[in-house]
Amino acid sequence: MVSRVIPVEPFDLVIFGGTGDLARRKILPGLFRRFIAGQMPQDAQIIGAARAEYDADGYRQFIKQSLFEFGPKDVPNDVTEAFLSGLDYVAIDAKGTNGWPDLAAKMRDGHVRAFYFSVAPALFGDLAERLHSHDIALPDSRIVVEKPFGHDLKSARSLNATLAQHFSEDQIYRIDHYLGKETVQNLMAVRFGNMLFEPLWNALYIDHVQITVAETVGVDGRGGYYDTSGAMRDMVQNHLMQLLCLIAMEPPAKFDPDAVRDEKLKVIRALDPVSPHHLVRGQYGASSDHPDYRAHVENRRSRTESYVALKTHISNWRWAGTPFYLRTGKRLRARSSEIAVVFKETPHSIFGPEAGSHRNALIIRLQPDEGITMDVTIKEPGPGGMRLIDVPLDMTFAEALGPEVGEVPDAYERLIMDVIRGNQTLFMRGDEVEAAWAWTDPIINHWGETKDVPKPYDAGGSGPEDALMLMHRDDRKWREIR
Ligand code: NAP
Repeated sequence: MVSRVIPVEPFDLVIFGGTGDLARRKILPGLFRRFIAGQMPQDAQIIGAARAEYDADGYRQFIKQSLFEFGPKDVPNDVTEAFLSGLDYVAIDAKGTNGWPDLAAKMRDGHVRAFYFSVAPALFGDLAERLHSHDIALPDSRIVVEKPFGHDLKSARSLNATLAQHFSEDQIYRIDHYLGKETVQNLMAVRFGNMLFEPLWNALYIDHVQITVAETVGVDGRGGYYDTSGAMRDMVQNHLMQLLCLIAMEPPAKFDPDAVRDEKLKVIRALDPVSPHHLVRGQYGASSDHPDYRAHVENRRSRTESYVALKTHISNWRWAGTPFYLRTGKRLRARSSEIAVVFKETPHSIFGPEAGSHRNALIIRLQPDEGITMDVTIKEPGPGGMRLIDVPLDMTFAEALGPEVGEVPDAYERLIMDVIRGNQTLFMRGDEVEAAWAWTDPIINHWGETKDVPKPYDAGGSGPEDALMLMHRDDRKWREIR
């Protein structure tokens, strides 16, 4: 049932930061899976680049270890070796001169050239400049940049301007790995490939939308970075915003990168500013096996949020009157990401008040158990009269499509292959990122100006009490985190 694997064109992919955490945990294991699936052409070349002094063999041994740790299991040794033989390494300092001529010599004519900037954003400008001064980047080469893309609107603009000095927008691939998830793309297929949903997809029929990204982990190992960021910058400005855009955007005229991104941009620009009354921030407390947030980041006075919930509106014809509720947090009850599109009740119940209140809901689950379910109201089976219950119509992919669905590429693999194919649909455009910061900045600035202190919440729970109230006040409730 899984679609056929079509190999991509021959490519040279340089991973700056090729010894770093992201390269070891995600990028190289992802490429390895694509190699096993037969999507990488024989002569694909992957070059790690960082300051550490490795020769090619040393780097292959280093990456072999990462593949054992983070890659697919039970792969025959000859397959692993065949993949590793396509790996090379150059010791390079983004800010220095050494290594650049060696890298230039390794690039091959006729191959797609892609450069993954898996390094701190402060190095993007140096890398871009040197790729050009050493004639390594060509007019059709691509660069891949990671989040965080800026810290606020000003820094995002400055990063965009830095990259624009050397690369045009159609060469820049800003990764948001949420967009690479199978279900996120399926959301577009479900919305725009079926007649069923689109006529109902508006404020007349949809009561509200809730988007949840819950994690069980704390800030483990990233405390220093996280404490300067917080949930609003780390999750809402990018991942949740992108999910909101895909739910709320108008149908693009065609499934083409700029058509899709134009529609997403219109959604962000139509977002209302968020009232302070519709914002809740939290910091997780301690549990028996974990310190609380402030101990975790080693800052007893930290006012950074590890949880945020908010309500917003989209001021356009389609959505006027339908609230969008967003929440994300760490150390919550379960690892769970989902979007729930909750429809209105029927205008009149022929079953009387005792039948209770029932609403259809379309649930798009991103993790775990990626899939889509539709809650529908039916008669409770049995002789008890006309009692109504809500049951899910389950479109969990693994069940509907068979075991092979487990072999669909994960987000990073898919997105890297899209870079090689030159397809930008699932990458954020510079103006989208700036618009998202323009909406987020006033919220964060308000917290700073008012010295807002996040509310404590129990580790392993569902977030601060105030977040529950945000919904209760509107006579609605969050779906359970499970
Ligand atoms: P990391 O583990 O600290 O690795 C940084 C890499 O950059 C190392 O390979 C380092 O190697 C190299 N590097 C540092 N300074 C350099 C220089 N002057 N010239 C050349 N190479 C240099 O960081 P990471 O976690 O992999 O993250 C990389 C980027 O991805 C960051 O922007 C991060 O925010 C982003 N990101 C990471 C994750 C994740 O899960 N890790 C998730 C999302 C986004 P040497 O020290 O040997 O030079």
